[in-house]
Amino acid sequence: MQIGIIGAGTSGLCTAIKSKQLGLDVQVFDANSTPGRKLSATGSGRCNISNQHAGAQQYFTDDQNALQRCFEKIPLVQVLTFLESCGIPTTASEDGWIYPHSYSAANVVDILMDNLKDTKLRTNTLITKIIKNKDGFILHSADPSQQYHCEKLILACGSPANPQLGARAVLYDPIAGLGHTILPVHPALSPIETDPTPFHKLQGVRLDAGVELLYQNKLVVQNIGNIIITQWGLNGPGVMDISHWIDPDKIDSYQLKIDFAARFGQEIEKALSSANNAERSLQALLKAYLPAKVVDFLLQHARLEKHLHCGDIHQPQKEALLYAIHNQVLAVRGVRGFKFAQASTGGVPLGEICPETMQSRRCPGLFFAGELVNVLGPCGGFNLHWAFLSGLIAANGLIKK
Ligand SMILES: Cc1cc2nc3c(=O)[nH]c(=O)nc-3n(C[C@H](O)[C@H](O)[C@H](O)COP(=O)(O)OP(=O)(O)OC[C@H]3O[C@@H](n4cnc5c(N)ncnc54)[C@H](O)[C@@H]3O)c2cc1C
Repeated sequence: MQIGIIGAGTSGLCTAIKSKQLGLDVQVFDANSTPGRKLSATGSGRCNISNQHAGAQQYFTDDQNALQRCFEKIPLVQVLTFLESCGIPTTASEDGWIYPHSYSAANVVDILMDNLKDTKLRTNTLITKIIKNKDGFILHSADPSQQYHCEKLILACGSPANPQLGARAVLYDPIAGLGHTILPVHPALSPIETDPTPFHKLQGVRLDAGVELLYQNKLVVQNIGNIIITQWGLNGPGVMDISHWIDPDKIDSYQLKIDFAARFGQEIEKALSSANNAERSLQALLKAYLPAKVVDFLLQHARLEKHLHCGDIHQPQKEALLYAIHNQVLAVRGVRGFKFAQASTGGVPLGEICPETMQSRRCPGLFFAGELVNVLGPCGGFNLHWAFLSGLIAANGLIKK
């Protein structure tokens, strides 16, 4: 049986390897000149390949139930065993983020390609049109003299996030032509632009903080994660993980509330009131928890002199300081676009796909894998995990009667 795979990215390479292991005849097409371009840039080149906490509940999708069934079909350990069988043993950090032993995304691409030595890989081949007939699928490429046939087709062509790595959005119309809905595609895992004025002295600061997204002063979603303060707004997983909740058409109604001490609960409050710290300066006490620039900013904000002793401040001063620590509100100005996004929302609804096989419910013989499907995980290896997980289900689905 001739299998066609469009996309030699993470999910396409995974599907090709597994299909080959199952004895299938595979042909892979990619518009880029080299395979795995996005994969080779992941995790700042270190490839955060999976996460020990990967489970359906961590993801944003149109069909939670179907996603749960995907995770039941191929549990985490099977994804890691597959990677190991390809020659990619992994290791987990304390917080559960999983990396290859080599900590090298480029090595991961090379190793995956080594598993595909005898496989037909057509690079520089942009597929522009897909026709279904009684024998399978005809794929038209940008070169009108080239057409390809396959009996079953896997679409693993990703999303338009990060076009500088060759990401593109060419196949949504052809997929709609095969009977699928295409949900609006938006950038996700993207930095958030905010009014830079309040934090202008904090540029370059990086810390773990609580982030609440407010719409018309009401809480939309909250997160605790690493943020980086920049001249245009906030970057880092703490804000990227929630950027897809912002409706770009209503941008003026959103605010971000930053809690600099979300990780510490009531600890700073207790330390400020502790008799043991009565002789300690406010600045020294806060430096135990926060970067020096943030400490100076907060003391200035609460109009407190930095050498003041903790034991000498009055209750209203303490309240002003705690308020400044926990409630810094910034007006949202925008979400940085696809160029800065690590992923997307939208695309092909998971609800139109059988979760046991990743086969289309609309077009028999058509399968999906990876980010083309409306499944988004937070930063931390969850999206590569989905690319591998869905790729494995799709490959196994090819031989399911
Ligand atoms: C900078 C950056 C860092 C990231 N870091 C991480 C991380 O550390 N951990 C994590 O979990 N996730 C990370 N991600 C997200 C992760 O890389 C993606 O979710 C994952 O690669 C998606 O895999 P995919 O196979 O669906 O798509 P891709 O890997 O993008 O592959 C799609 C392939 O399809 C090809 N293609 C598209 N259209 C066509 C067409 N019409 N014809 C032929 N070929 C076509 C493209 O050229 C591409 O090679 C990161 C993303 C970016 C941009």
